[in-house]
Amino acid sequence: MDVSAGFERKKTRQIMVGDVAVGGDAPITVQSMTITKTADVEATLQQVYSLAAAGADIVRCTCNDFAAAEGLAQIVPRSPVPIVADIHHQYKMALAALEAGVQCLRLNPGNIKNPKHIKLVAQEAKDRNVPIRIGVNGGSLHPDLYAKYGGKVTPEAMVESAQDELAYFAEVDFDLVKISVKASSVPLMIEAYRQLSEVTDYPLHLGVTEAGPPPGGLIKATAGIATLLAEGIGDTIRYSLTADPVQEAKAGRQLLEAMGLRERKNVDLIACPSCGRAEVDVYAVAEQAMEAFADKEIPLQVAVMGCVVNGPGEARDADIGIAAGNKRGHLFVKGQNVAVVAEDEMVDQLVEWATYINDHGAEAALARVDTQKAAREAEKDRARLLELQGDDANDSGTRVDLIRKL
Ligand code: SF4
Repeated sequence: MDVSAGFERKKTRQIMVGDVAVGGDAPITVQSMTITKTADVEATLQQVYSLAAAGADIVRCTCNDFAAAEGLAQIVPRSPVPIVADIHHQYKMALAALEAGVQCLRLNPGNIKNPKHIKLVAQEAKDRNVPIRIGVNGGSLHPDLYAKYGGKVTPEAMVESAQDELAYFAEVDFDLVKISVKASSVPLMIEAYRQLSEVTDYPLHLGVTEAGPPPGGLIKATAGIATLLAEGIGDTIRYSLTADPVQEAKAGRQLLEAMGLRERKNVDLIACPSCGRAEVDVYAVAEQAMEAFADKEIPLQVAVMGCVVNGPGEARDADIGIAAGNKRGHLFVKGQNVAVVAEDEMVDQLVEWATYINDHGAEAALARVDTQKAAREAEKDRARLLELQGDDANDSGTRVDLIRKL
């Protein structure tokens, strides 16, 4: 099977959130939300910029009072990315956010319930060509639906909530819509999105709501979002973490890159898990490398491997890598040894080589060194390690002997 083609994506309509396309064949986008008071324009803008730098394509800000709406009027023109106003309970805040010039609204059908108000907001959004996300949330489901489904939040109830809202929008001929059916339960949200994607072709915004702090929150959000993306469902995603929202934006971006759904922007650092063969503290070197590459836009795969015995082979597809051996680091490019460096220079050299490859290409990098010589040095350390450790680097044989003597 050819995995390079990626996941087949379900065809959805396309809408524009400001200048960012969502749905259709547009790249899947990353969203996050500010946690500042929206009325605090400078603090909110600073966070919007941080989120955009971390990979967010669209940022949502709460619009919970008129001061927030006034803040949005100043934030929107200065923002590097489109701004979505998050509206709960008060339809007037939606109208105020539209006046402020936001590029999208998010309405929760569970707490803006008056059909007249819903239609008025949709009409106003239509007049301005501004899309609305129907943001159904398992935790704040419309009370009528909650009762109808036996006091339980079910995927069917969540989908019905979205469809009810769509029906109101249809009455005013408004169709600039994207939809989310989030829940904090991963199985519930997966099933809700699956059912929703069967009955609609509006773009879908994926998320596991209230996923919690990392690492548990990251795992829950990834489990839900990645499962759906692998099924071709989803046009825009948000990690809802109890953490600095920059982590949300980074996680969203990294997930899409890892799944091959967005072009790589930063380094993809791979590292071995370490074992008894390791010639260096792999965790520490990987950590240092992550820090060193953190603010660099180098879309290469970089490998940190604990030993020269297996490292270069196991990471032969990496653009550049380093494997430790005999207090030295063996650098390799596309599986070919290129240089031997001192152990304490491993990370600096990785960065230097990665930067060179990014600027000039792997061929040019290989052409500037004696690869044969580097390979001979690596083979020397490899042979030495094999002689010292043999095939049983974790010394399991000795342990087994000890156990047998008990
Ligand atoms: S064999 Fe070498 S490369 Fe593989 S996990 Fe162990 S130390 Fe890392």
